[in-house]
Amino acid sequence: MTTTGYHRTILTPEQRRQAREFAEWLLMPTADRDWQELVGDPDPIVSPDGTMKARLIEPAEILRYMMAGNATITIKSLKTQTRFTFRIRKIGKDSPHFVSLLSGPDNTEDYRFLGTIFEGRDYRHGRRSHISEDAPAAKAFEWFFAHLKRGRVSTHLEVWHEGRCGRCGRKLTVPESVRDGLGPECAGRV
Ligand SMILES: [Zn+2]
Repeated sequence: MTTTGYHRTILTPEQRRQAREFAEWLLMPTADRDWQELVGDPDPIVSPDGTMKARLIEPAEILRYMMAGNATITIKSLKTQTRFTFRIRKIGKDSPHFVSLLSGPDNTEDYRFLGTIFEGRDYRHGRRSHISEDAPAAKAFEWFFAHLKRGRVSTHLEVWHEGRCGRCGRKLTVPESVRDGLGPECAGRV
């Protein structure tokens, strides 16, 4: 029997623990958020290089940011504190969106292909991905995106952009841009 280049991963105890946590995570309630419960706009986090990461709140704005063409999001479980960073990129006007997972210490380089979003809504795990479809990060993205496109985000989840425009990748500076994850010029084009 051939495995056609598919890498099956044997889980370490740490990965098993993570997988268990994520099994819980997948059962978390989702709801149309009650915006009133959120106290104002959360403050951005300023990195040493001056980039301002900020939390994206509403499902529609999260989706808009993610689909802008050159987005990086971190999703964090408030229950387990587990976090994953994904890059969602389009490589041309008519290209689908390619999703990669941050898998190393360099947050500009260490991304591995995870899957593809077709026509802005149909997510498929990549057959060429070296990350197993059952890996916690893969399940987390699939689950997160399935809810997001129906306008829902788990109340146990935080979603952050990384301080750069989701379309052109430039550092965000204006408060309104930091809030939306899109620069002033790009905001009008997505
Ligand atoms: Zn931009």
